[in-house]
Amino acid sequence: MDTIQVKDKTFRISIPESKIQERVKAIANKINQDYAGKNPVFLSVLNGSFIFTADLLRQVNLPCEICFVKLASYQGVNSSGSIRELIGLNVDVTNRHVIIVEDIVDTGLTMAHMLDNLMKQNPSSIDICALLVKPGKLQVKLDIRYCCLEIPNDFIVGYGLDYDGYGRNTKDIYTLV
Ligand code: 5GP
Repeated sequence: MDTIQVKDKTFRISIPESKIQERVKAIANKINQDYAGKNPVFLSVLNGSFIFTADLLRQVNLPCEICFVKLASYQGVNSSGSIRELIGLNVDVTNRHVIIVEDIVDTGLTMAHMLDNLMKQNPSSIDICALLVKPGKLQVKLDIRYCCLEIPNDFIVGYGLDYDGYGRNTKDIYTLV
């Protein structure tokens, strides 16, 4: 299907399944090489990265742990902005090699907060593995070692990413028309 309707909006196909799978495999191969001899812990950031994580990790042949985390945002009464707290991290990452698996990096603020939180636990290393990055939207300096695809500043859905809770269950990625 070239276009899909998600709630009140129309989206057009922008990244076909074959391209996504090709890039996911290439990134998994790179991780396999870079982390040979190590046993990393993958932190998959829910909800958006559930399909990406499932496809990526089935191509990773390292001994590894996978855990799923979520970020909670709180708007404090006197706070100038939102504070993101890591919830669900039930693995001790002290002295571990951590690979964060994220669906999409937009401003980069979510990843920056997550890195700050994780650093406090003294891991041996932290790398970011993102399915998609919008370089034109980045507001912070981030070292994204593994990026499957760079995209323009458009809003996308599919392959795990949602619009208002819908549209996650597609094999291709779609851009808002
Ligand atoms: P950041 O903190 O980098 O600005 O935002 C990251 C989060 O915003 C992603 O994990 C994702 O949940 C959401 N996001 C950013 N861009 C898009 C987009 O184009 N489509 C969807 N569905 N979510 C997005």
